[in-house]
Amino acid sequence: MALRSFIDVAPDSAFPIQNLPYGIFKPRDGTARAGVAIGELILDLSVLEELGHLRDVTEQQIFSGGSLNAFMATGRPAWKRTRAILQNFLSADNGALRDNSELREHAFHKQSEVTMQLPACIGDYTDFYSSYHHAHNVGTMLRGPENALMPNWKWLPVAYHGRASSIVVSGTEVKRPHGQTKPADASAPVFGSSKSLDFELETAFFIGPGNPLGQPVSIDHAEEHIFGIVLMNDWSARDIQTWEYQPLGPFLAKNFCTSISPWVVTLEALEPFRKNLSAQDPAPLPYLKRANDFTFNIQLEARLQTARMREPQTIMRTNFQNLYWSIAQQLAHHTVNGCNLQPGDLLASGTISGPTRESRGCMLELTWRGQNPLKLPDAEARKWLEDGDTLSITGWCQGEGYRVGFGEVSGRIVGA
Ligand code: CA
Repeated sequence: MALRSFIDVAPDSAFPIQNLPYGIFKPRDGTARAGVAIGELILDLSVLEELGHLRDVTEQQIFSGGSLNAFMATGRPAWKRTRAILQNFLSADNGALRDNSELREHAFHKQSEVTMQLPACIGDYTDFYSSYHHAHNVGTMLRGPENALMPNWKWLPVAYHGRASSIVVSGTEVKRPHGQTKPADASAPVFGSSKSLDFELETAFFIGPGNPLGQPVSIDHAEEHIFGIVLMNDWSARDIQTWEYQPLGPFLAKNFCTSISPWVVTLEALEPFRKNLSAQDPAPLPYLKRANDFTFNIQLEARLQTARMREPQTIMRTNFQNLYWSIAQQLAHHTVNGCNLQPGDLLASGTISGPTRESRGCMLELTWRGQNPLKLPDAEARKWLEDGDTLSITGWCQGEGYRVGFGEVSGRIVGA
């Protein structure tokens, strides 16, 4: 018999009792605190903590502050104990919360009546480039199919250090950036608003316990440091990027805004959807190799709604399994030189493109640098994103009669 909650949860809800993702929310008349999503509600963890129900997790007060960093730092055994306590509390068979209307009144909030915030104070943010098909498509545009992949790509998970201060929660408006660009036919650059604003469909994982400076995390221990996963949109200004990126990589084309979904889905919730990582050729160096390296079967979609459209239209579909490098490999590589990660750091996947046209994870690939505009209803078309467009990314794992969903990360573009 499948685990069931006394809270009504629709079969296509992102948040059944099998999920219980963590987020930071602010009720209308209160301060920001931690909660888990269940159906259309949020269970307020600061209330349970106050009443002593989470004493087995930690003696400290960690759920009443405005971030999950302290909880992320507690580590997997504490995360598992918390999950067991919460699943028990929410289970259809347990009357402790179900039959206590006063406590229920106090402990539940409607998601529609709160404001979601960033789940953590993100100290550092790194963006990988781990989809083979994305790297191959972009490389083909720049250097032709023979030299599409750089020589290092299959040997190490390529990444750059991004900027944490401009990471925003889903729903935040995205202001079209200004910058320096150089039109192909011009002899000198011009200044103005970006004319080729793009999205990148990504996921990102939060670091749990960190590692001290100088002490790498081996790939066999990488999982102990991974708290959970969110959806991410790495908004990108392609014209600014083209002119600025050599030789040091992305800078102002990427750091004006990066959006993430508010609910962090834990590795425990993703466990039933775990898959073996595909064999890698060439075999990675020993520090990137572990027995049974893994990925997850997460379906991902991007939807676009222009100002004229009545409802969003799905413009591409992909899967988390399209990532060549695993999250364990990304973490092991990131720390192999002794680089220290800290609780709440965010490590993103890079654009997750698959092998088909429909599974390309950004406008750059979908329109092939604007050559084949995306056709939309009512004769609208897009080479790049325009002001008034809303781009949403959603993702879920399909279980037997339930979904472990991520909710969405969404942002509407406004003119600068
Ligand atoms: Ca990216």
